[in-house]
Amino acid sequence: MSDARIWSRREFLERTSSCAAHMSVMAAASPVLARRLWARQERFPVVAREAWGRIEHVDDGIWGMVSTPLQDRTTLCNGGIVAGKAGVVVVEAYGSDAGARWMAAQAKALTGRVPTHVVVTHYHSDHTTGLRGAFETPGVKLLSTTVTRDEVRDRNQSPPVDILEGAQVLDGRRPSEIDLGDRSVVVVPRNGHTDSDVSLEISDPRVIFTGDLVWNHMFPNYVDAIPSRLTKNVQLLRLSGADTYVPGHGPLADAADMDRYLSLLDDVEAAARGAMERGQSAEEAGAEYELPAGLGDWTLFNPGYFARAIGAWMKELGATE
Ligand SMILES: [Zn+2]
Repeated sequence: MSDARIWSRREFLERTSSCAAHMSVMAAASPVLARRLWARQERFPVVAREAWGRIEHVDDGIWGMVSTPLQDRTTLCNGGIVAGKAGVVVVEAYGSDAGARWMAAQAKALTGRVPTHVVVTHYHSDHTTGLRGAFETPGVKLLSTTVTRDEVRDRNQSPPVDILEGAQVLDGRRPSEIDLGDRSVVVVPRNGHTDSDVSLEISDPRVIFTGDLVWNHMFPNYVDAIPSRLTKNVQLLRLSGADTYVPGHGPLADAADMDRYLSLLDDVEAAARGAMERGQSAEEAGAEYELPAGLGDWTLFNPGYFARAIGAWMKELGATE
């Protein structure tokens, strides 16, 4: 099919590494469904709400930020706040300076203290464009892996080089602990959504900030994915048995949501393997692909994303198109 409008969207997607671009295309595809999707599924009390998202109070000292980027792109990605006696961690730097500034203000309002740490889970611009806004807080530390720091610098537009140079580097192989006094946040290096992702894990209560390894009720973006690693790391996150997962995009998740997401990832792999056996291209297989039954309202997508996901698998499995 050579619909000019669809083709130009696809070209646009291929020129950017941002999940945000993915979202804007998705919004264009189905704005009504998208709004309904985010309006639902508040899992915990909402302590702040704006056009761009809401903050849910997960437990003592733990808040999850659920962005609603199809209405307003100020924050774009999900994230959150974790407070202990000795510090306050803000997860992600968001899609704009205004978004990051707003999250820092929320941290102060909710905890009585300014953020001490900002952790970015991976380099994508919807998670890192607000770094300058986040670093208006005096003394705050940026934590990222070396790979993520370098990818923000080398692959994103107008990177804040001075802030990146001051980043505290997280071990890319072993978990690191952020000691907040009466509580720890363990930062676990992973990959699969990109070549360097991290999850932030709290043991009591068991809450995991997954970055973009997990998307809830939204078909994930495979733009930089290493599909087998993505599935493996999501399996590990699920096995950790957390009560609450803060995904990179979409409403807060529980174990049942993780199981549905894993079934989706497996289904995409099966679709890619089937396509290879039949000698189909990713485009052909993507056009035919249908979401597995039982996913509920995971019906919001542009069929082009299927081709991208299937294509990522075919590339990994050694197919030539
Ligand atoms: Zn991403």
